[in-house]
Formats: sequence, C-alpha cells, structure tokens
Amino acid sequence: MDFEGIIEKASNLLMDSNFTIGLTGAGISAESGIPTFRGKNGLWSKFKVEELATPEAFNRNPKLVWKWYKWRMEIIFNARPNAGHYALVELERLGILKCIVTQNVDGLHHLAGNKCVIELHGNIRRGRCIKCNYKVIFNEPPENIPPKCPKCFNLLRPDVVWFGEAIPKNELERAFNLFSKADLALVIGTSGIVQPAGYLPYIVKENGGLIIEINVEKSAITSIADIFIKDKASIALSKIVKYIKDKLTSKLYDASENEL
Ligand code: NAD
Ligand code: ZN
Repeated sequence: MDFEGIIEKASNLLMDSNFTIGLTGAGISAESGIPTFRGKNGLWSKFKVEELATPEAFNRNPKLVWKWYKWRMEIIFNARPNAGHYALVELERLGILKCIVTQNVDGLHHLAGNKCVIELHGNIRRGRCIKCNYKVIFNEPPENIPPKCPKCFNLLRPDVVWFGEAIPKNELERAFNLFSKADLALVIGTSGIVQPAGYLPYIVKENGGLIIEINVEKSAITSIADIFIKDKASIALSKIVKYIKDKLTSKLYDASENEL
C-alpha cells in the first residue's frame, strides 16, 4: 500500500472507532526542538540518561542533576507545540480521540489545547520538595540550583518520574482504565521500551482492539501494530486530520443535498 493509502486506512479506522486513546512519547515533541532521550544530546551525550534521571544520582549530586534539568527546561520553556500536537487537539474536538496518555514531561499537549491529558511521568515545569512534598510551578528555569522549598527550605527536585520510581497511582490507574476501554490505540513517537507505558497498547491488542503507530523508525510496539505509518508525527497526523475533515465535510454536503 502506498503512503496515501495507509493514511486513508488509518483515518477510516479512527472514524470507525468508538474509543481511541493516544499514547505519546518524546518523538512527538522532537519537531518542537526538544531532543529525545535516544538521540545525540550534544553537551550531555557523555552522560547516560540512566545516570542522571534517578533518585541515586540526585542524592549523590543534586546540583549536577539540576544542571541537566535546567538545560532541558530552557529548551522546553522556549518550545512551542507543533502540527502533530495541534492535530491531536483536532482529533479530540472531533470526538474521536478520548484522551492522551503521555510519557512526555514538556506540557506541550496542554499548551496545544488538549483537554484530556494524563502525564504518566510528571511535568518538568513543576518542582517538588523532597521533604514536605510541597509543589512549585516554574514559569522559567530556576536561577539558583539546586532550588529550595519555599515552605521548609529543603531541596526541591523536578516533579518527574525517574528511572526506578513508580508512576503516581492516580495517573497509572486512569491510564490502565482508559486503555482497557479502548478499541483503538494511536501510538506516536515512543520507543515503547519504558515500562509500564510501553505495555499499555498491548492491553488494547489483548482485548481485540487495533493499534495505529506513527514513528520515524520501528519500535517495541511495531510488531503488534495493525497499521505502521513510518513518518514524522507532524506530517502523518496532519494528513490524517485533513482526510477525516474532508470526509466529514463531504458527508455533510451529501446529507444537505438529500434534504433538498
Ligand atoms: P525515546 O526517546 O525513547 O524515543 C523517542 C521515539 O520517537 C523513538 O522511537 C524515535 O524513533 C521517535 N521519533 C523521533 N522523532 C520522531 C518524529 N518526528 N515523529 C515520530 N516519531 C519520532 O522516548 P520515549 O519513548 O518517550 O521514552 C523515554 C522517556 O523519555 C520518557 O519517560 C519521557 O518522559 C522522556 N523524555 C521526554 C521528553 C519530552 O518531554 N519531550 C524528551 C525526552 C525524553
Ligand atoms: Zn518543603
């Protein structure tokens, strides 16, 4: 099947679905200029993510971990949602996409305008006190690192889920419930190797549902995907939304013709 044929098939499956859930990863934000973990991170490529995004690393050297997060915050605070994020807003408005479960910590789905977003791994725009759990919203990266809790003056940590940490119970339960209900999972820009997020599409598959995946390369989910769209998220999603809108418009037009 050619590319247009694949887009058409994916769009029709989305329109026919009763309950589509999105799963997004770092790939959807790559075109907003936010580096994925499994790419070249320039300055930081000499560190492994697993050596920075862990509670052990933070205990050992909070300043180094904050330096990395400050660098990431600078990129994220300057980033804007891209056409891929906006296409997901359209799919939600059309009533097709019920919710997005994201592994991203950049907050771009909210910024784009999606209403139902579950952030499995927290949000880099928030800090959390390691002692009293007080949460702080950052409007810009903290000037002095490591930043301190305004309540009890202990250290703040980024309010994100690190390797080896559990996903907050509420978010995890909501994600599992949604994926258990879904008859279609739209999986975008994730390597699928971070668990339990990578497992979520498997629930849909086990329940007899369908998987549409968009990624520039194969992932740990591709083997169970019914449709694999090998392209950038912004391109594939924009095409899908255009196809669906055109089809809905022509249906409306046909209906009004019939009434005459
Ligand atoms: P990942 O870095 O492991 O994988 C990124 C995936 O995106 C890859 O499969 C890659 O092929 C694909 N990709 C790259 N560019 C793409 C594009 N333009 N369109 C479609 N796909 C594209 O990311 P992950 O699977 O999300 O998991 C790793 C962890 O990284 C998560 O826990 C997440 O919290 C964290 N992370 C988040 C951000 C962010 O918030 N933007 C950035 C980096 C890492
Ligand atoms: Zn505190």
